[in-house]
Amino acid sequence: MAAYDFETHNYDAIVIGAGGSGLRATLGLAENGLRTACITKVFPTRSHTVAAQGGIAASLGNMGPDHWQWHMYDTIKGSDWLGDMDAMEYLAQEAPKAVYELEHYGVPFSRTEEGKIYQRPFGGHTTEFGEGPPVQRTCAAADRTGHAILHTLYGQSLKNDAEFFIEYFAIDLIMSEDGQCQGVVAWCLEDGSIHVFNAKMTVLATGGYGRAYFSATSAHTCTGDGGGMVARQNLPLQDMEFVQFHPTGIYGAGCLITEGARGEGGYLTNSEGERFMERYAPTYKDLASRDVVSRCMTMEIREGRGVGKNGDHIHLNLNHLPKEALAERLPGISESARIFAGVDVTKEPIPVLPTVHYNMGGIPTNYWGEVLNPTEDDPDRVVPGLMAVGEAGCASVHGANRLGSNSLIDLVVFGRAAAIRAGKVVDPKSANPTLNKSSVQFALDRFDGLRHAKGTVPTAELRDEMQRTMQEDAAVFRTDATLAEGVEKMYRVAGKLDDIRVTDRSMVWNSDLMETLELTNLMPNALATIVGAEARKESRGAHAHEDYPDRDDENWRVHTIARVNGKVDLSFRPVHTNPLLGHNEGGIDPEKIKPKARVY
Ligand SMILES: Cc1cc2nc3c(=O)[nH]c(=O)nc-3n(C[C@H](O)[C@H](O)[C@H](O)COP(=O)(O)OP(=O)(O)OC[C@H]3O[C@@H](n4cnc5c(N)ncnc54)[C@H](O)[C@@H]3O)c2cc1C
Repeated sequence: MAAYDFETHNYDAIVIGAGGSGLRATLGLAENGLRTACITKVFPTRSHTVAAQGGIAASLGNMGPDHWQWHMYDTIKGSDWLGDMDAMEYLAQEAPKAVYELEHYGVPFSRTEEGKIYQRPFGGHTTEFGEGPPVQRTCAAADRTGHAILHTLYGQSLKNDAEFFIEYFAIDLIMSEDGQCQGVVAWCLEDGSIHVFNAKMTVLATGGYGRAYFSATSAHTCTGDGGGMVARQNLPLQDMEFVQFHPTGIYGAGCLITEGARGEGGYLTNSEGERFMERYAPTYKDLASRDVVSRCMTMEIREGRGVGKNGDHIHLNLNHLPKEALAERLPGISESARIFAGVDVTKEPIPVLPTVHYNMGGIPTNYWGEVLNPTEDDPDRVVPGLMAVGEAGCASVHGANRLGSNSLIDLVVFGRAAAIRAGKVVDPKSANPTLNKSSVQFALDRFDGLRHAKGTVPTAELRDEMQRTMQEDAAVFRTDATLAEGVEKMYRVAGKLDDIRVTDRSMVWNSDLMETLELTNLMPNALATIVGAEARKESRGAHAHEDYPDRDDENWRVHTIARVNGKVDLSFRPVHTNPLLGHNEGGIDPEKIKPKARVY
């Protein structure tokens, strides 16, 4: 048994993560009068949300007609009918409110001539339930929307007296014997001290796990720590096989060129100089949804029409756009293209490739952010004391595929919803729970075991092996054969965690140990992803299966539930097919949201 001294802190609510979702939850919890702490492994404004460029979707209708039901419909269609209707309805309906709130908190949105919030078109966002022309729904602060939101929310959280524990790494959840979450054990990177946070409500806002793959647009810190913590408590992960590839990562570097670039008029070409998207998606062309564009690009490359000396990527053209428009609307990506591809966007095309961008799957929750631990009798059973929001969670509003600019809105809508719900279920006057000592000890023992790990495989080497396996066998194109082989390989790779080698035994800024902890979190996420993908015998959204090219609603319109405990145990959970509002209560017409083929 590892012996570590620790300091104990008592709070009403703690939030793990200070990205957009974590900060929105923190702010809301503090505003609701709960004693709130936010624990984050990076400085809040360095969270991956800072990199979000394109914008945040809400049917404000500032640039032309729009309606929350059109937004809801687009989200449903984008999800390929795997999203939960109640959550998607809540998202679309609450979105305008959440954006105006951001405006009032001080987010410096770009403006129209009349001074309204500027909105740009984004892939998959349309009018008239997909029958009308594209809509300008994505609210933007130039091409630095995430940056603007994050800085504003951090300032507001401080103003409301939320406390921050910065550069603290959450190791594991503390759970009572009867399955209630009681807080977390964390490690202060700066001075090496250990901290136990006792909380009546714990909100996981740890972001995605893009770094399970070799080429990803996300920060190196996106290691699925929340998913790892949940998996170790035998709680499930949901719909992990759905991984979004963004069509336009810069070839080689992986850095993102926002979809806003195509929204502003950019287009893709192959080695013949052809605007090939016109062939695949005649209506929405380059602004078809992301999975569609990524697949088309991969098809062009596979059929020998890729650009470059290895014919292995595609060109994104912006050079026909007025210089002033590029400077005003897309300054950040002009800079990224220059730095990472050596390209002057006013003169040459940018070399791009589909790159891992977003995890639709995550910790299952209801639309209040409460974590679910489904049983056969109760598929919506709530885990008391535990919530998950943002990319770490799965509400599920993105289903099998997320629309661009729908994540930032998900962060603030559900960060806010979690705070509202916690305001109702947490009593600030009640006593904090009596901590389950053996759960605390479990975290300390695991930490200590890794700190002194004396195996033969260095962390960086094993991480690389995992990332390459996932990139090769769980990417855009999937077949029975590649997936089966991938599952076998990933089990072998994950098995090597028992033989991991950590060389630095110190407690202060031990990045070797931190990266090892992160690897132990990435691994269950990666396993659930590839095992889920192997099991799902259909094509839906981001999961395009060459051997089963069609969507199969009869058998597969279900959420995959994965419990990772050495092996991955799969079960299924029904999709919520009914919105909260009836048609006669102002809700969407049920005829409109019946599953149909998803064409753009
Ligand atoms: C390059 C890029 C551009 C994007 N552009 C857009 C866009 O224009 N529009 C849009 O809608 N979406 C966009 N997305 C998606 C969207 O930005 C992300 O899904 C979203 O920002 C995730 O926010 P989050 O709050 O869930 O987590 P993050 O912002 O990733 O933050 C995670 C937080 O968790 C903390 N954390 C993690 N693990 C631990 C741990 N063990 N202990 C303590 N703290 C921990 C981190 O310190 C961090 O504060 C983009 C994504 C990328 C990568």
